[in-house]
Amino acid sequence: MTADPPAGYDGPSLDTLAADVDTGTAETLNVTAPFTGEAVGEVPACTPDNLRRAVERAREAQEPWAGRPVSERVAAVERFRSLVRERQADLLDLVQLESGKARLDAMEEVLDVQLTAGHYADKAPEYLAPERRTGVVPGLTRVREHRDPYGVAGFVTPWNYPLTLSVSDALPALLAGNAVVVKPAEATPYTALFAAELLREAGVPNELVQVVTGDGERLGPALVEAVDHVSFTGSTAVGREVAARAGRELTPVSLELGGKGPMVVRADAPLDRTVTGAVRGAFASAGQLCIAVERIYVHDSRYDDFCERLVGRTRALEVGTRFDYGPDVGSLVSERQLEKVATHVEEAVDAGATVLTGGRRRPDVAPFAYEPTVLTDVPDSASVACEETFGPVVTVEAVPDDDAAVERANDSTYGLHGTVWTDDTAAGRDVARRMDCGTVAVNDAHVAMWGSIDAPMGGRKESGIGRRHGDEGFEKYTQSQSVTVQGGHPIAPPPGVPNRLVAGGLSAYLRVMQRLGLR
Ligand code: NAD
Repeated sequence: MTADPPAGYDGPSLDTLAADVDTGTAETLNVTAPFTGEAVGEVPACTPDNLRRAVERAREAQEPWAGRPVSERVAAVERFRSLVRERQADLLDLVQLESGKARLDAMEEVLDVQLTAGHYADKAPEYLAPERRTGVVPGLTRVREHRDPYGVAGFVTPWNYPLTLSVSDALPALLAGNAVVVKPAEATPYTALFAAELLREAGVPNELVQVVTGDGERLGPALVEAVDHVSFTGSTAVGREVAARAGRELTPVSLELGGKGPMVVRADAPLDRTVTGAVRGAFASAGQLCIAVERIYVHDSRYDDFCERLVGRTRALEVGTRFDYGPDVGSLVSERQLEKVATHVEEAVDAGATVLTGGRRRPDVAPFAYEPTVLTDVPDSASVACEETFGPVVTVEAVPDDDAAVERANDSTYGLHGTVWTDDTAAGRDVARRMDCGTVAVNDAHVAMWGSIDAPMGGRKESGIGRRHGDEGFEKYTQSQSVTVQGGHPIAPPPGVPNRLVAGGLSAYLRVMQRLGLR
């Protein structure tokens, strides 16, 4: 038995969405609304066989899709972007319903999908146009590089950004001519199902996009084996398993994994704006954001002032569970996530950390709600200092100078996203360049970086392999083919000419080209 969605939910019918999953299995998976902690729907718990059949259906639809002119694929993605705008209220309700996040956080996803759709729809024709490459013998060797889709692109996605992470990354794959199979997180399947419905409404062929709901441990391995390219977004631990299996299968894979975002506050930082950035960076999506700020390193001279302002602004945040823009911070996604966050804080306090504000569960608000929390005096050995917390918890530490800040920021197995706050742009860029992260933002938390779709984003160290966004975010869904046409005689010894002469001729040719600066 499932309960009705919480009061205020006015989104799509959950039963209708679940009926879109094509399966013969009777097993189901409950989906809980974090606002109430109650199961509000159930989706099929697909089997590996169901998944393999979905991949086959997608594969059949892929060839005709890849055969269409790129302008038709672009038109479908542009229509999808319009539909996302038109159905914004439904999407916001659905994302909030199953993830528990605040409405503004859900809005970031809706905006992101539109930005990504627009960016890659503009760029796809250019990326897919054959490109001339320099041949080894100018005038005689003519080379063209072509870009072809892989076939079926598989996506395994987490629950924290259920719209962005199951759809935005899939858009360049579709534009490149791939079919798409998405295995959404167990907690948030409905958003992916609804997005697939909108893609079909936009003119994407029926079977081209498949959403296979169910348990990751069961379906993940089958997906990696069945598809031609895997994009995994999730924890580092599961990412390693996916990479190992993809390695055995020789399936290309990109991995967007965990983070432990450092924030560096320089002595010259404009404190008001910096604190605004810290609050957004640490508490957007209740901190369940891979690029969240989890560690703040503040110059000694500003430490007290910074902490006082940060605590004041954090206390002013409204934690709530409404389908409107009132609350600043929503619920955590699940009991499990709540326990992890609470344990990180309790352990740190036992080890000597000080709670400047927060540090409490908020069952009065929602079963999995947790107060935005600021900690200081945290020992390095505490989990909250070194492991990803993925909740509304941030630690603050004083540092004597930029060098110490950079050293502390880089003292992590993760390297996803960092931020620097300063009045001096050149110094900010300098600190950014010394941070071992795939992306660094100066004077913004994450939106300026993430929204700049033209630039690649992704992790260093244990935060991932590969990039989304930018040229790489499209090209990774294609495989190149270079076609070389040689004019005149093939580059091979003519009959009767000794190999020694041929070798000398080729070597002399290369010397001349090097002198001319052509090779
Ligand atoms: P998770 O790794 O537990 O699950 C992610 C997905 O993998 C889910 O769909 C799950 O069902 C599936 N899965 C589980 N076991 C699997 C297996 N053995 N093989 C294949 N797939 C399997 O992660 P989560 O808890 O859903 O999400 C939170 C994590 O995601 C955090 O670590 C966060 O930092 C990370 N994340 C990273 C990015 C990024 O862009 N780098 C973005 C968002 C979230």
